Amino acid sequence: MERRVRDEISAVNAMKHVKFLSDIGNRFVGSKGDKKAIDYVSKEFKKLGLTVDKTEISVPTFRERETKLTVVKPVKKTFQCVASYFTPPTPKKGVTAPLVYVGGGEEKDYHGKDVEGKIAVMNEKGMGDLKFWMGRYAATAKHHGALALISIHVMPYPYRTSWEIGNNNVENRFPEEGVPTATLSCVDGQELMWLMGGGEVEACLKLDVETRMAKSHVVRGVLKGREISEEKISIIAHRDNGIPPGANDNASGTGTMLEIARALTRVGTRRSVEFISCTAEEGVTAGAYQYVQAHKDEMPSIKALFNIDMISTGGRLNLVGRGIWPDTKPLEHSKDLNRMVLKVAHELGYELGSMVASWGVSESGRFIEHGVPAVWFWKPDDPYYHSVYDKPENLEPNMLKVVGDIVAITILRLDAVDKIPKFK
Ligand SMILES: [Zn+2]
Repeated sequence: MERRVRDEISAVNAMKHVKFLSDIGNRFVGSKGDKKAIDYVSKEFKKLGLTVDKTEISVPTFRERETKLTVVKPVKKTFQCVASYFTPPTPKKGVTAPLVYVGGGEEKDYHGKDVEGKIAVMNEKGMGDLKFWMGRYAATAKHHGALALISIHVMPYPYRTSWEIGNNNVENRFPEEGVPTATLSCVDGQELMWLMGGGEVEACLKLDVETRMAKSHVVRGVLKGREISEEKISIIAHRDNGIPPGANDNASGTGTMLEIARALTRVGTRRSVEFISCTAEEGVTAGAYQYVQAHKDEMPSIKALFNIDMISTGGRLNLVGRGIWPDTKPLEHSKDLNRMVLKVAHELGYELGSMVASWGVSESGRFIEHGVPAVWFWKPDDPYYHSVYDKPENLEPNMLKVVGDIVAITILRLDAVDKIPKFK
């Protein structure tokens, strides 16, 4: 049976889903593209004969109409900029003010600098220093009287950051107050810094953006177990993107999940296997948080959860063990389940690394908080992360089969035993 499932799982097939989802464009929660993605995933689940249900969630959504940085003095030049999601807008005409460099944007970086009524400019120092959670930098800038904050990315294109603080607690997502924020590429950033080195630079930052509440759905497809249907093994992948097209983040996980579903429905399972297409991962996984709240009573029946998020582009394929949030104690993915997955991977001839996530946890964290043993497949240092270059052409498609094989075979082995141990 394992052989049959492995033969079935195809990177070519999984990539078809990735391409379809990437072509939709914006799939941010509550967007038109989100609805298209919901229809697509639901239809795919139904095609496989899975039972489909939907859980309504209500979360903030974000729309970016126009983001523009125009230097007006000493030269006139417009730079390509990306707004942080959930940033407040600037006034309609934008804010026009002198620029001040504030290093890494930390409290200490402001000492001895006059940013009152000005636009602060900060930068990232490397891939290991991504300042993704811009909320706290926005608050620091506001505290010092700045009007807006621009962050220079380490890559030669801007990327989408978040206007959140980076806390695990969803009640404490956003700073109480902060300035509007956007990012710039390192190439444009260098030019800007060069101008600033020559004397006073004045610029206009315009963010025509909107944050409001929206409804969406977590879509679940269930393959009912033949014998022990009350016990479940779950796979989760988020379908939203931070910025289109979001091929690696996270059409790659969704495509892989759909391909695993196709292979497992061919052979059937003794236990129920559920496939969860979640959304509003972008930000602090508010979608998964609400899903878990709505299905609290089901959590004890989930014997193992596999989270597939960003598995195609970047460095080595890893299992994330510990995830660190600033406001809660670290979340641990199941050591026992990690060990089992690693053993399966090695038997199949695949290498798999392990790592600690120092900037938070993807959706598996919300299940871990309810005692569900979970693993998270992830690749670090995706150079195209949250940029318009996160497109299918930049993926390593065969990774979708690697993860598909490992997850599907682990599920078959879990399902083969009469009593799944309580993983720690
Ligand atoms: Zn993701």
